[in-house]
Amino acid sequence: MQLIRSAEVDGALVDVLVDGPTIADCRIPGKTPATDFEAVWEARGGALLPGLHDHHIHLAALAASRASVRCGPPDVTTEEELEQAIARSRSSGWIRGVGYHESVAGVPSRVQMDALEARRPLRIQHRSGKLWYLNSAAMATLGVTTHELFREDERLRGVGWAFDLDAGLRDVADALIQCGVTGATDATPSNDDAQAERLRGLPIDVRVMGGDALTSGHRKILLDDAVLPDIDRLIATIRDAHESGRDVAVHCVTRTELILALAAIEAAGPSGADRIEHASVADDAAFDLIHRAGVTVVTQPNFVFERGDQYLADVESRDRAVLYRLRGFDRAGIPLGGATDAPFGSPDPWLAMRAATMRRTRGGEALGEEESVSAERALALFTTDPERPGGEARKIMPGAPADLCLLDRPWASVQERLVADDVKATFISGVCRYHRNDD
Ligand SMILES: [Zn+2]
Repeated sequence: MQLIRSAEVDGALVDVLVDGPTIADCRIPGKTPATDFEAVWEARGGALLPGLHDHHIHLAALAASRASVRCGPPDVTTEEELEQAIARSRSSGWIRGVGYHESVAGVPSRVQMDALEARRPLRIQHRSGKLWYLNSAAMATLGVTTHELFREDERLRGVGWAFDLDAGLRDVADALIQCGVTGATDATPSNDDAQAERLRGLPIDVRVMGGDALTSGHRKILLDDAVLPDIDRLIATIRDAHESGRDVAVHCVTRTELILALAAIEAAGPSGADRIEHASVADDAAFDLIHRAGVTVVTQPNFVFERGDQYLADVESRDRAVLYRLRGFDRAGIPLGGATDAPFGSPDPWLAMRAATMRRTRGGEALGEEESVSAERALALFTTDPERPGGEARKIMPGAPADLCLLDRPWASVQERLVADDVKATFISGVCRYHRNDD
């Protein structure tokens, strides 16, 4: 048995007793002798929260991106900075760039790519994650005749880029744990059973969705406005997934994708646990369809901060008003969960929570302020059950799993900053996986 002494839970101070992977009791503080416990953790009035769950992340891509050259805002904003970033790479083989956006140097031509790097094979990923730009050396190595590869990650998997994925994944898990994250749902469409097993071996609670080669978990379906599938085929795909006992999770970032996905789910017959990933643009007119499709929306408030300035420049005003909505979904009673979509956003869930409350861009501009929510609501987006992202926030109470995030101060102070620095300790299934070294 372990004791977390004098923690603030739902506004009151309690001693929390942890038995194996479970919370055994919450007692009035001061009445628990310390001698009976294998470990005693001093909370000193700090808030104790359910461990955070990132409901949509890409762990392997995050690991890879941490070992890659950043090629887009905010790190790189001009062609000159891009040249410098590539030139600084000491890789003797492949150079892998990530996070590119056209605001840096337009749509890169093959000539531009060769000017960035003539000798070593170079591939740069667009920040949407679906497009890679290649230089001539990379094209030759891969044996392709075009310098733009669209949704062809399979072809690039593991090619000539020395990277220890397992070590990278362990680093990613450690970084998440330091933010108070105890679990994450990997939303990578190419996940298969082998990859799922690898991800589930991490010290955080990983849930996995994926494509046909995965036998359980949500079936991830990608839509692209440019090449929308035939609705009958989409309905058939959803039915197939449901018949094999799987719910679907459909990636929708445009208004058209959202409407198509919802119509298809309704026609196929909703499972009740189907999901819409992102729902980046959602008018009030879509709410009724969302209800009829019985879906949960999994949103990324961090994009308001991280990409907001770009949205203000690029997105038409009627869409800007309904970008990454929060309060609008809440008011309509639509189940809503929170996520970061890292590495396409920062993996820090506190940044996402902050953005949900402030609705400010990195440049300080307001973006959809009427969609802001309270800090409690922002937190709840990340503390729902991994299998029910839009359900009730988990509670610290006897019988609940001991997946816990302990902060170094009471919630009243935490909510004013919402920063990962305030995380003091993280427990997963009752095991302390992180404890800040300060006392
Ligand atoms: Zn994603």
